[in-house]
Amino acid sequence: MIIQLQPSISASEKDIILTRIKSLEYKATPVTTQRGSYLVAIGKKEFDIRQLGHLKGIADIHRVSDDYKLVSRKWKVNHTQIDLGEGVVVGNGSLSIMAGPCSIEHEDQVQNTIDHLVRNNVRMMRGGVFKPRSSPYAFRGLGVEGLKMWYALARKAGIKIVSEVMQVSQIAEMYDYVDVFQVGARNTQNFNLLDELGKVDKAVMIKRGISGTIEELLYSAEYVFSAGNEKLLLCERGIRTYERASRNTMDVNAIPILKEKTHLPVIADPSHGIGIRDYVEPVALAAVMAGADGVIYETHEKPEEAASDGQQTLDFDESTQLITRMRKAFDLLQQF
Ligand code: PEP
Ligand code: MN
Repeated sequence: MIIQLQPSISASEKDIILTRIKSLEYKATPVTTQRGSYLVAIGKKEFDIRQLGHLKGIADIHRVSDDYKLVSRKWKVNHTQIDLGEGVVVGNGSLSIMAGPCSIEHEDQVQNTIDHLVRNNVRMMRGGVFKPRSSPYAFRGLGVEGLKMWYALARKAGIKIVSEVMQVSQIAEMYDYVDVFQVGARNTQNFNLLDELGKVDKAVMIKRGISGTIEELLYSAEYVFSAGNEKLLLCERGIRTYERASRNTMDVNAIPILKEKTHLPVIADPSHGIGIRDYVEPVALAAVMAGADGVIYETHEKPEEAASDGQQTLDFDESTQLITRMRKAFDLLQQF
């Protein structure tokens, strides 16, 4: 059950509500986010909702049968929009495109990517400065200095930054230079990180765990929301299955399922989803047609020289073609 509180609620009104919830044998967790105050009440007993509904300070009460509550669409039917400023909004019924290299490498690479995005009217750039690598000997990113360089160039071009945060201490270091904190597939269930990201007033995109279920992804989002941050995006990036013909198995199924289960925007990552450059486009188009709010993919001026994930990275010509085709697919979908 989610009890939405009125902004003007007094402490004594809140106490009365909490006492009543306790007497119904429910456990209440107070949640305050950038957008509102709630009590999330968990319990089993059936009771007439009017026993609470008349209490002062309550704006609305919703019964949510899902085990995750605040991210469920059962209480918030309208889809959430994430406003990143300067006219960049995710989840508002347009197709959000986020593109850029797997890793930020140097200034020329960043500037060339920005120019490519600007030419194609793409407003969000991805790139890692802290890289989770399977091998400790692989390139692990430029760190926060690289992020600052990227930020300076991106801001001049009106481009928003999506970048992965791997640990709690990086949140403060990165805060001033990112627009969306990305939680990578290896950290989907790093609950300390999720809790801390719940305390910041900045968008967070959570990727699905490598072997994670859709429900586990929703619980991870519930962690961030219940810790105070509603500015959440979810990302399907493929899961590990027994199939070895592709790097991961892009679970296109997850897109309509998530759109039904949660009010949060759903982004698709076909680059990691399939892991093979030639197949990124068909998978991206499938994700658009499946109803994704956006697509995030890897592009590099010279993919064969990329410091990481070159095998799944599009060059700028391929990227331009993909952008054009995704927009066409999206327009077609609007006509159905
Ligand atoms: C990435 O976006 O470059 C990345 C490491 O993704 P994931 O966490 O999905 O593997
Ligand atoms: Mn990558």
